[in-house]
Amino acid sequence: MKPIHVVIIGGGYGGIRAMEHLSKSSRIHVTLIDQNAYHYMQAEVYDFIANKVDMSHIMIDLPSLCNSFGLVSFLCEEVLTIETDAQEVITEGQRIPYDYLIIATGSRTYFPTFIPGLREYTHGVKSVPSALDFKQQFERALLDRIQAQKNRCDVKPFNIVIGGAGLSGVEIAAEMAAYANKFYQNGNFGCRSVDVYLIDAYESILFGMDPFLIRSSHERLIQLGVHVWHNNRISEVREHCILLDNGKLLDFEFMILQGVFVPRH
Ligand SMILES: Cc1cc2nc3c(=O)[nH]c(=O)nc-3n(C[C@H](O)[C@H](O)[C@H](O)COP(=O)(O)OP(=O)(O)OC[C@H]3O[C@@H](n4cnc5c(N)ncnc54)[C@H](O)[C@@H]3O)c2cc1C
Repeated sequence: MKPIHVVIIGGGYGGIRAMEHLSKSSRIHVTLIDQNAYHYMQAEVYDFIANKVDMSHIMIDLPSLCNSFGLVSFLCEEVLTIETDAQEVITEGQRIPYDYLIIATGSRTYFPTFIPGLREYTHGVKSVPSALDFKQQFERALLDRIQAQKNRCDVKPFNIVIGGAGLSGVEIAAEMAAYANKFYQNGNFGCRSVDVYLIDAYESILFGMDPFLIRSSHERLIQLGVHVWHNNRISEVREHCILLDNGKLLDFEFMILQGVFVPRH
């Protein structure tokens, strides 16, 4: 009997889990399609940025992963459209027929348009290239500070702004501050370190979570030297500068968006 053909679009967490389950049946042939030849382990990206692991720890090769399962094929292409009547997935080069289709294409960072400049001047870490770009800029800033000792530490501040103090924002702020602190202690470097700012419009970080968790996380961030600016709503982002509702301006070199921003009522 001809196997049932299941096409899965997206080799992220959802797509891989579906592939793993379906491949247990000898009656099902799975085709996994992803625009990249690797699975990106987004949840591990902080360790990558903080140099605890290298790039190989946040990527899994999808062709070899698929090979290790039963009746599974892998196709590295971007899906352009789906023709549901014809039951076909369309990529640039192919039309792939399916009996059943699973769409597991994930999500994108939301850049609300009511904050001018947010999309143009901030970054997400939702892809390997953007995480790598951020990590490299961060390390370059650390090196600049070491080199600045020959000019008596005459180097402009390097501020990293993290917009949104939810779980991801808090985690990334803490990891980066901890990494920068360790880096300076190890090398005993004299010049000023980078400054990490965590900014959120709500009255506390981790808004809505357990009060003990909020209090202890806040204290730990302060210990690490993170500038925690809650109750501060970002109203505009310019190139290398943010403007807050209360009129404050903050220069930055790099801004990461980690939160869901709500409009002011
Ligand atoms: C920095 C960060 C840290 C996180 N930490 C945690 C954590 O600690 N714990 C936790 O539970 N969650 C965490 N998350 C959330 C978690 O990563 C997501 O919930 C999860 O990745 C969603 O899985 P998914 O399969 O839906 O999508 P994804 O993992 O995003 O996978 C989608 C896949 O679809 C592919 N794709 C998209 N469009 C196309 C197309 N047109 N054609 C072909 N392929 C396409 C993409 O290349 C990608 O491989 C974190 C997220 C981020 C960004």
